[in-house]
Amino acid sequence: MIKSIRGTRDLLPPDTDLWNRVEAKVRDVFARYNYHEIRTPVFEDTALFSRSVGEETDIVSKEMFTWEDKARAQSEKAQSLTLRPENTAGVVRAYIEHGLDKKGTLQKLYYIGPQFRRERPQKGRYRQFYQIGAEIIGPPTAGSESPARDAEVLEMLATLLDQVGLRDWNLQLNSVGCAEDRTRYNKALREALKPVVHQMDPDCQRRAETNPLRVLDCKVPEDQPIIEKLPKISEYLDEPCRQHFAEVRTMLDAVGVPYSINERMVRGLDYYTRTTFEFTHGGLGAQSAVLGGGRYDGLSESLEGPKAPGIGFAIGEDRLILALQSQGEQPAEKIQAFVAPLGAGMNKHALNLAHELRRACVAADLGEETFRLKKSFELAEKAGAQYIVIVGENEVAADQFAVKNLTSGEQVKVARAELAGYLRK
Ligand code: AMP
Repeated sequence: MIKSIRGTRDLLPPDTDLWNRVEAKVRDVFARYNYHEIRTPVFEDTALFSRSVGEETDIVSKEMFTWEDKARAQSEKAQSLTLRPENTAGVVRAYIEHGLDKKGTLQKLYYIGPQFRRERPQKGRYRQFYQIGAEIIGPPTAGSESPARDAEVLEMLATLLDQVGLRDWNLQLNSVGCAEDRTRYNKALREALKPVVHQMDPDCQRRAETNPLRVLDCKVPEDQPIIEKLPKISEYLDEPCRQHFAEVRTMLDAVGVPYSINERMVRGLDYYTRTTFEFTHGGLGAQSAVLGGGRYDGLSESLEGPKAPGIGFAIGEDRLILALQSQGEQPAEKIQAFVAPLGAGMNKHALNLAHELRRACVAADLGEETFRLKKSFELAEKAGAQYIVIVGENEVAADQFAVKNLTSGEQVKVARAELAGYLRK
């Protein structure tokens, strides 16, 4: 038997009802903040990710699904392609490719779709997973660098999580500084790590060598005392960066979004500058991050684009759903009516009635004339219907239908013309 691939999974009803409900809410929130959808391809030129996410990151160095595409002609070279491990790089590529900077305004773009990383699968961590993300990007003259963007993004996320019904989330905030701060900080980390690095776990040692910032998110318990004593990023921020971060915090305080500062949160992608953040949830166990994001002021230029500072985030949709389920969120979308034909020749009348009801926006399912009444009742309950509507010979003749409320047991006769209104209320 052929099975699904390790780290991938099928999403089935009724869970998909919850996924769809979350996505509908999220689209609604995005629209209220004037975001519009962008859809980019699921595979891109490998160089896009190595240049933006960074060669030395876990994602690029070991987690990407990459292959050599066959050359189409002898004169052509085979191209290295990669299934997207994240979507910000693709959005910024599209921004540059379509000259969206020429519009002169902020582009507020959102996406919902699958991403791919070859990680060790576990609960909340998959090789094909789904992200809901958004980006604000534009020329500095459009206000793209302003701390007001950071605060607005974070306020939107608080609203979005509240509105999809997630309770007890935590916002962790940090500033990883501007490019020069990062260089100075990395140097300080290298110095501080020199005398202690040999005591660390091999993976942390590798990080210390290739990308010292990454040492801060080493999870090995034995290495934590060493990491705690390392220099703090806040001591290396230059004045404009410090000021920017202070303004973000002031605005968050003003709008009442709670947060805590976590100076070790540096995030796993190289393109971040200044504000970085993560929202976590207690119901998720080890993989507690529901979403992450931050500023990426130099990303466009590193992809040979115009100066286009930006800020964005990606929600792990799989984890958001798991967190909602851990709170007891029920997926079932109930239907209003189950139309039950009773007796030979009744299928066509029942179909007709269901057709009218569905066109009148009543969610209805349809039975089968050969089923006994008892079986129709069982099916109606299984389908989660609120009412069962009986379509028998007498009902058709009178153009009036027996309607039973499956919760209260109350039964009434309703004329065809009033039926949709009755079922919808
Ligand atoms: P990142 O792009 O690494 O900043 O991740 C953003 C969010 O995507 C994380 O906070 C997770 O919620 C989610 N995420 C990242 N990797 C995975 C994965 N392998 N499986 C499920 N969710 C993931």
